[in-house]
Amino acid sequence: MADIIQLLPESIANQIAAGEVVQRPASAVKELMENSLDAGATSITLIVKEGGKLLIQVIDNGCGMSETDARMSLERHATSKIRKAEDLFALRTMGFRGEALASIAAVSQLEMKTRLADRELGTRLVVEASEVKIQEPVACEKGTSIVVKNLFFNVPARRNFLKSTAVEMKHVMDEFQRLALAFPSVAFTLFQGDEKVYDLAPGKLSHRIVNLFGKNFESQLIPCKEETEYVRITGYVGKPEFARKTRGEQFFFVNQRFIRSNYLHHAVMSAFEGLLPEQSYPFYVLFLELDPKHIDVNVHPTKTEIKFDDERMVYNIMRAAVRQALGVHHLAPSLDFGVDVNLVSKLQSRGQSAHEVFIEERFQTSGKQQWRELFPEDLSPRVPESLRKDEPAVVEPEKDKPSILGNSTVFQVANRFIVQASSNGLLIIDQQAAHERILFEKFQLAMRQRKGESQQVLFPQTITWSAGDCALITEMMPELEALGFRLEPFGKNTFLITGMPPGLRETSGKDLLEGTLEQFKNQSDLSLPVADRLARALARRSCIKSGTALQTEEMQVLVQQLMRCKTPQYSPSGQMTFFHLEEEKIAAYFNRS
Ligand code: ADP
Ligand code: MG
Repeated sequence: MADIIQLLPESIANQIAAGEVVQRPASAVKELMENSLDAGATSITLIVKEGGKLLIQVIDNGCGMSETDARMSLERHATSKIRKAEDLFALRTMGFRGEALASIAAVSQLEMKTRLADRELGTRLVVEASEVKIQEPVACEKGTSIVVKNLFFNVPARRNFLKSTAVEMKHVMDEFQRLALAFPSVAFTLFQGDEKVYDLAPGKLSHRIVNLFGKNFESQLIPCKEETEYVRITGYVGKPEFARKTRGEQFFFVNQRFIRSNYLHHAVMSAFEGLLPEQSYPFYVLFLELDPKHIDVNVHPTKTEIKFDDERMVYNIMRAAVRQALGVHHLAPSLDFGVDVNLVSKLQSRGQSAHEVFIEERFQTSGKQQWRELFPEDLSPRVPESLRKDEPAVVEPEKDKPSILGNSTVFQVANRFIVQASSNGLLIIDQQAAHERILFEKFQLAMRQRKGESQQVLFPQTITWSAGDCALITEMMPELEALGFRLEPFGKNTFLITGMPPGLRETSGKDLLEGTLEQFKNQSDLSLPVADRLARALARRSCIKSGTALQTEEMQVLVQQLMRCKTPQYSPSGQMTFFHLEEEKIAAYFNRS
């Protein structure tokens, strides 16, 4: 039989390759804009018609191309960005495959105008389905402008596969946003038809975020920063109360390249643990910078996946960075604990939260007695002895942190809110959310330490469960004991409750356990560890509810305990626990400053 294998003509090979690189208008947008960035542009304009199906134009003020390069740029595997295989491991550019322009040109009608800075005339190229129709000199601006018309005009199957203009436009916007976020120092403009959708001036990342997503993001951003030898993490996370039910505003960039990573997402989510309502997603824009030799971006042609050589390390650093941001920068009013003021610098050098350093130091130097002072055990109406009245009133560990006036009057509003003066304003505390937070952290700590202090019950009650609940309870027994419950088997599916967690208001162990189990079962976020879910459930069940009248001492203790929490500003389910009304805000009500 005769030989039958032939090499494909270049134009067909390009068309096939295009299938991988260019799935839809948005992919072309991404490739063109990345080329502009690689060309060092400081200003990029994108014009899109009909979601990019009719027209995509990218205009940049980058380095431009010579006549020959302009022609070469359309060849497959033609790139100025790498020359040898090793270069792949030192990539600093967005592109490197040399496929994008060739692919786009294979499936569209493309026009390019480009000029080098030091040339008077530029080059104009008109290409249709890989075929160069015109190449001629042209007067044009420095930089490059590429128009892509009628994408997939010669591949009807693909063309028909495109979605509505609205859907395609959404994809285009996504790509635009990612690049605009990754390069805040570059000016970006987006026109949808004749309408200017974005006009983004170069500036700081925070400004870029606000310009892209709206003014209400201004007060929602918590800066995040962490640096190790392996990786540097910078960016912002949104405050927990700002979390949305839908995903979409979560961005990771590795060396300025947008990537998707469920793994890293999980790291961030675990840092938010105990701060978010169930099934909601916090905003974040996080940049990872690391030596390109640690990553492999060559996993997929569209390059949104990435491999790290040490994934676990990245995970841990990411988690710590976000945790730290939420704990430290996310300012809670601070109390004076008689700790030295250098605390903040110490914690920064050690990468711990102020709270952790503080606790650690207290614990080491003064042992158990003072440990109790930190966590007065109960909230019963009598003032715990541990609560010294003569605590020094105010200290400001950091200038911009409000501090509580220790001795100021506390009062309750509507049996719901606690009001106390701070050094520069008023603190308004939601008693239920606050107490839920306090108890949650206390229970977590108890379970971690497995101390299991318990309060003996005077009249033990029996409790009978269904077989299923009984299995659940038996499984959670170690955690329940650590919390202070004492349950003794008492016949089939029945227990005798002989001990309870100390310091709770609820006096019926039966009600408490039943209520807690109910809460526990109702949680939909089953991904959390059992201990955590139990701590949440018990805190929710046993916290002081709205509508409960409180005595002055109870309020004082509550406020102090709250401020000593690791994450005082939110309840475990992400509700705000307090609100700080600063002097300026009050003055603003009176139109004064
Ligand atoms: P890659 O970006 O992977 O190198 P492309 O096909 O996207 O491959 O581009 C091919 C080459 O064309 C680039 O390496 C670059 O030299 C040149 N090029 C493309 N777009 C531009 C631009 N906007 N400005 C200057 N040069 C460009
Ligand atoms: Mg490219």
